[in-house]
Amino acid sequence: MKITRLEPFILHAPVTRGGIADSTHTLTHWGAPGVAIHTDAGLTGYGFSGTHAHLPTDRLIVACIVDSYGPLLMGQEIIAAPREPAALWKKLHNDPQIYWVGRAGIVHLALAAIDIALWDLQAKAAGLPLWKLLDGSATKRVEAYNTDGGWLNWPLETVVSDCKRLIEEEGYRAVKIKVGSANSSEDLDRVEAVRKALGPGIRIMTDANGRWTLLQAIETAGRLADFDVTWIEEPISFDDVQGHRRLADAIRTPIALGEQIYTAIHFREFIHAGAVHYVQPDVTRLAGITEFLEVADMAHGAGLPVAPHVGDMAQVHQHLCFAHPAANLLEYIPWLHDWMEHPARIAGGFYIAPQAPGAGTTPNQRAFKEINRI
Ligand code: MG
Repeated sequence: MKITRLEPFILHAPVTRGGIADSTHTLTHWGAPGVAIHTDAGLTGYGFSGTHAHLPTDRLIVACIVDSYGPLLMGQEIIAAPREPAALWKKLHNDPQIYWVGRAGIVHLALAAIDIALWDLQAKAAGLPLWKLLDGSATKRVEAYNTDGGWLNWPLETVVSDCKRLIEEEGYRAVKIKVGSANSSEDLDRVEAVRKALGPGIRIMTDANGRWTLLQAIETAGRLADFDVTWIEEPISFDDVQGHRRLADAIRTPIALGEQIYTAIHFREFIHAGAVHYVQPDVTRLAGITEFLEVADMAHGAGLPVAPHVGDMAQVHQHLCFAHPAANLLEYIPWLHDWMEHPARIAGGFYIAPQAPGAGTTPNQRAFKEINRI
């Protein structure tokens, strides 16, 4: 099976209620710039990254896919062997010209989309869902926690009623709410109100999206323990290993992070420093499935749970959770649900193991017709 053609796409899917915000971002659409990799066997693999739907940078990502990596991919023989995409990934990742300008950022998002498409192709060629190709367990339970009830731009009453609906009507046992308001007492009021409304026994995650200084985090995150929160996510600046380690020493609430970390090496620094408790790799920001598995293995070796970020809106990540022993919990946000051939499905707060061959990344025809901005 040989690669014959690359076909880029840029999907912009509308988010819930027309717009959401956390402490550092405001967005109306979720972006999925990606690529269809066509082969002479008639099979096509699909992969995409995750962005805030900023068209100029999405165009840079697909240009990197097609113009920089394209020549390395065209005509490439795809061998049906379980770990074959990892071998091709190495060739792409280590290309001296591309590596020279990008060991993170746009280059990584582009390589992520390609790597995911190659694994999708491989799983389709094997006639297996990706998690089975990766020797995952059919009896494993992967719990979903829902973030789509807790945005910072929604009034407290909406956050409380949405979280209650997710628990009482949709069966979730865990929700995430955003913090990092200008006034930290507002954050504590929100968390307290949600805890009161949901009662004990429901997990509440909190996420500051990197907003606080170390001192603000010690003060505010330190008080979150009063409300029994499962973790504080990205409390301070995303790259600050030593700051997170010092925070971990100062507060009782566990720290979660990883959605903005680009490399396995950077994850290693956080893990070795004792600066993270829940490891949150994102397959669309790391350079794809190959590097995600490296991070998950590293976390597992250190005895830390993996709870992937949902940059792919749970499409690939659900497969990786069914495949990896350290990953039992996965975020859910529904923004790509209506635009996928086989969207992630949840029942009673748990993911249903996907059965269709591939990585779950094939957009449906409606997506190409209605939200493709290429
Ligand atoms: Mg987050």
